[in-house]
Amino acid sequence: MSVVTRFAPSPTGFLHIGGARTALFNYVFAKSQGGRYLLRIEDTDKERSTNEAIEAIHDGLSWLGLSGDDVTVMQSENAGRHAEIAQELLAKGAAYHCYLSDDELADLRDKARETGASVRSPWRDGGNPPADRKPVIRLKMPDEGTITIQDLVQGEVTINAMQLDDMVLMRSDGSPTYMLAVVVDDHDMGITHIIRGDDHLNNAFRQMMVYQAMGWQVPFFAHIPLIHGQDGAKLSKRHGALGVDAYRDDGFLPEALQNYLMRLGWSHGDEELFTLEQAISWFDMAKVGKSPSRFDTDKLTAINHHHLRLVPEDKLADIILAHYDNPSDQAKDRLIAAMPLLTDRAATLNALSDGQDYLIYDGVPAMTDDAKALLTDDAIVILGKLQKALPDNDLSLDEFKLFLNEFLAGEGLKMRDIGLPLRGALTGTKTSPSITDIAVILGMKEVSSRLSSICNS
Ligand code: GLU
Repeated sequence: MSVVTRFAPSPTGFLHIGGARTALFNYVFAKSQGGRYLLRIEDTDKERSTNEAIEAIHDGLSWLGLSGDDVTVMQSENAGRHAEIAQELLAKGAAYHCYLSDDELADLRDKARETGASVRSPWRDGGNPPADRKPVIRLKMPDEGTITIQDLVQGEVTINAMQLDDMVLMRSDGSPTYMLAVVVDDHDMGITHIIRGDDHLNNAFRQMMVYQAMGWQVPFFAHIPLIHGQDGAKLSKRHGALGVDAYRDDGFLPEALQNYLMRLGWSHGDEELFTLEQAISWFDMAKVGKSPSRFDTDKLTAINHHHLRLVPEDKLADIILAHYDNPSDQAKDRLIAAMPLLTDRAATLNALSDGQDYLIYDGVPAMTDDAKALLTDDAIVILGKLQKALPDNDLSLDEFKLFLNEFLAGEGLKMRDIGLPLRGALTGTKTSPSITDIAVILGMKEVSSRLSSICNS
């Protein structure tokens, strides 16, 4: 069997982190089987399905590399086909027109609740249609027996058929319900495996009844546990950002989010850090856990730090440079040379891009108060002497260290007498990476120019 999976989001204004994980599992499973992964936008709720909301889903998915393998199916465009299947179910006697008013339905529901039975409309057995009411179309659910799903994640799950109400397939305004649309579309798209959040497990039993009534092959189901927050409650706003876009804006890499989201609910031995290709080669549905996983921003940040260090240095330099106007000609070379030091200290692209003025622009950088406080009169005298002693030509790190040691010995000073003031003078901060490295990266000419501006001002 050639595997076909799908991600079927309803537009809500952003790509939810849980939705992203569902998309990822569908993608990875399909690819692990040499199959296809499709995208369907469930845009039947016209009020919520604005162009912006749909765009936000596409943006998030394309950033994560999870756009579908084929053109995106827009569910609303299949409304005619949904109505056609509803008519077919009527013709087969598997569905019926139901003319219950809202009040009558509420009464039936109350009664059903008292007896523990499900709602069965009297219109199931026909009757004379009232002229003043438009009917809904309901599916006849079985009156006895059990229904079993062999879920690839949840295992065998059985319910009593009498738990299921005769569900509405078409509303009285002629629009299809989600329960009908999802089955028709999945069938027509040739979906073989439905992988989605376990909040849809109850729906699966109802949907199975549509497949069976139509005589269609029921796909495999895999209902994955939802993502929870650190406190064990279902992930919500109070746990942090819910939209994938917020993580992108905070400087997380798609590779890191892919890696982290795969680890939420699935494992491959002790592997914590991996690429999407590795996940595809290792993926095994049997290793998807049944209990909810907890979203942990610190873990995501640590994983991001790992992936950040794998990005080519010139690509990172370009990302940083995009945050700055009119960089000096040397900026990119300096950033590339400093990158191992910078990525040691920064876990996200935003942290990496922050505070790099002293590498990007020539001349004395803007000073923090801490840095200013390091430039005492005594320190300025020493920096002035250093400036005069600097060679014209650039030095390697070892050569610069040697030069500095000789200079300090000649002045009867120690590194601690000059390290911090030099750092303040060259970087405008108290917290840059190693100042000898930075001095070498800036080059002797630039170091001299900064020191002379400071000492002569
Ligand atoms: N559109 C549904 C949702 O966003 C998903 C439907 C499905 O996966 O079957 O929750």
